Amino acid sequence: MAVTYTFKGLLTESGWLTNAVVKLDASGKILSIGESEKTEGEYIDGYALPGFQNAHSHAFQYAMAGLAELHTTTGAQDDFWSWRNAMYSLALTLEPGQMEAVAAMLYSEMARHGYTAVAEFHYLHHDKDGTPYANLPEMGVRLMAAAQRAGVHITLVPMFYQQGGFGQVPVEKQKRFISATIADYYKLLDSTIQAAKAFENASVGVGIHSLRAVKPEDVIAVCNALDGSRPFHIHVSEQLKEIEDCVAYHGKRPVQWLLDNCPVNKNYHLVHATHLDGDEVRGIAQSGASVVLCPSTEGNLGDGLFSFEAYKNHGGRWSIGTDSHVGLNPLEELRILDYGQRLISHKRTTFVTDDSGDSGFNALKMAWQSGRRAMGAPSKQFFAVGQPFDAAVVKAASPLIATASAKNLCNTIVYSADVSDMLGTVVSGKWVSREGSLQNRDAIVADFVRVMGELGARV
Ligand code: ZN
Repeated sequence: MAVTYTFKGLLTESGWLTNAVVKLDASGKILSIGESEKTEGEYIDGYALPGFQNAHSHAFQYAMAGLAELHTTTGAQDDFWSWRNAMYSLALTLEPGQMEAVAAMLYSEMARHGYTAVAEFHYLHHDKDGTPYANLPEMGVRLMAAAQRAGVHITLVPMFYQQGGFGQVPVEKQKRFISATIADYYKLLDSTIQAAKAFENASVGVGIHSLRAVKPEDVIAVCNALDGSRPFHIHVSEQLKEIEDCVAYHGKRPVQWLLDNCPVNKNYHLVHATHLDGDEVRGIAQSGASVVLCPSTEGNLGDGLFSFEAYKNHGGRWSIGTDSHVGLNPLEELRILDYGQRLISHKRTTFVTDDSGDSGFNALKMAWQSGRRAMGAPSKQFFAVGQPFDAAVVKAASPLIATASAKNLCNTIVYSADVSDMLGTVVSGKWVSREGSLQNRDAIVADFVRVMGELGARV
């Protein structure tokens, strides 16, 4: 059924519309949008932002969010690599139904926080003993089903994961991730593309887990075969050890190797890119690629701080992701990113790129536009006719928001709001979260609690 809403305000890339009338077709696509003197359809006492784009997720890791903080072995080093061992242990135990339950809970929580789309960086492909499932993309199907239950869009990115490290065979704990050859990976990718056709909310990207996980000749072959129709995702330069190992193996730093050997372009999404030298910073920015920054996870893992100021000065593009999901609030991701930079620059202008000086708006716009590219659906316009209506709606009646003028509204939201200020989340015209009521929530929570009991993962 076609539907019409009038929002108190709606954010466009050139500012706020007031009393914004949005007309949608039966599938939730935008028929028209504009300001009006009078209310049409249902009045929403809220400010509609373009739905947040979560450009990096490993859904299964949600099951261990908050569990890696009992640093009990006194004197032992607890770092990224010890965290990874704990994560591998979880990865070895999950059944497909359990994966779906964990992912549905996670995606429902994303919807509650205003995310309308997620790029799922998926490498837990095979059965527990490493053999492919009878239905090859079984785990990917479960992730798409989970997104459908929660009501968010998913760009599923099946990862090519071939080896255990630069020039090393996979270790036992990695057996569920492995495509031994490029042909095996393409079989997995093609079967995922076929499976995605059954889901209205799903699309598929291409990915390489990391330079350490795939042979260099196969990285180059996959990159050269990209035709621009799908986004390409890769983890890169997250940890200093990875840089050292790459230099030892390739004689080059990871991003430099990628820039020198692959046609890096605007379809590339380099996840983390934490440790870059000046040439790499400039090279990514000039290639048109985006980096995917995951501030809460990068902070939690002690990765380091991205070279944001130099990258911005070269015109670099970025999106945000929640990665291991220790945080699920998009506004918090933007704030952690900003404050990390303020603490090292001693300035408060991290996101300022133009004369408007509007930090909050600039951050929302960059994260959204690069986020859309990461989903494989680029758009400059927040709400375009013909596109699904996807919005995060903030309560206009929240005290700080109710008293903010239009010029202060984005910053009031980005720098002071939390999830209690969210009125709801609309995906393809449908409220998947509204004033505490979420799509399929009771069943999603019940399944999640049951699966956590089965796994004993949080005991
Ligand atoms: Zn990741």
